[in-house]
Amino acid sequence: MIKRSPTAPQADPAAEETQAFLDSLPEIKPGESFQFACHPKVACFNACCRDLNMPLAPYDVLRLRQELDMNSEEFIGYHTTVGQYPNGYPVLHLKMDASPDRACSFLTPAGCSVYPGRSAACRTYPLGRATREDDNGTLVEQYFLVQEPHCLGFNEKSQWTTDTWLQDQELVEYNRMNDRYMHLMAMQQRTGYPLAQKHATLCILAFYQLDRFAGFLESMRVLDRLVLSDEEKQAIMEDETARLEFAFDWIELVLYGSNARLTIKE
Ligand code: SF4
Ligand code: SF4
Repeated sequence: MIKRSPTAPQADPAAEETQAFLDSLPEIKPGESFQFACHPKVACFNACCRDLNMPLAPYDVLRLRQELDMNSEEFIGYHTTVGQYPNGYPVLHLKMDASPDRACSFLTPAGCSVYPGRSAACRTYPLGRATREDDNGTLVEQYFLVQEPHCLGFNEKSQWTTDTWLQDQELVEYNRMNDRYMHLMAMQQRTGYPLAQKHATLCILAFYQLDRFAGFLESMRVLDRLVLSDEEKQAIMEDETARLEFAFDWIELVLYGSNARLTIKE
């Protein structure tokens, strides 16, 4: 199986195998350069979008759904399998198609049909990213070069640093959002217990079914119980990205008792 664009957050216990893989690769330090380009004229074009084991974080699902203009029920049903990390947090994986080489269902002869909404993993390659939280809860990240023999993109002349690659692939926002999910998993990890099943179900709703989550917020009058301005409430109800940011805060408040940005009304 091709390990395309692995990421290995410390809080994801299922990522141990990926972490071991990353540890075997050369680390790219800030400012160091690497040579790479992927485009339709590369002889291996489209070769790597197959037989992938690709977890989708909540922001990946949101961006793919927006690109496909699909509601969450359809997207999850058609394009993902739903599982759980050992810490109990839900994880969705992108389904491959039924062909013998298990191609990504978004792959076309012309390339990726969801390119503007492709996942963080697809954007990160040929880098791998490992993250962990230090004792103060500060995120520490490392990048590695995933130089696989089948990938001819390394023979191309374009030069990158990790910073220029992240900018070019619009990964700054993806990483910021996906790290918020990893932060919650790190909090659960520190409890020493897996998430209760009812909380895992709530996380699926809040993180992966943002359209249905809006109805839940309304029917349970959740926003009225919190100190929020009218503008903040409006953004949460009208904009799914703002709703996902709220979901990260709200789940932290509900499951772990406090959140720096949310206060319950007296
Ligand atoms: S989403 Fe696009 S880039 Fe990612 S594996 Fe599928 S076809 Fe390739
Ligand atoms: S150059 Fe590398 S990333 Fe691009 S299609 Fe070929 S194998 Fe995939």
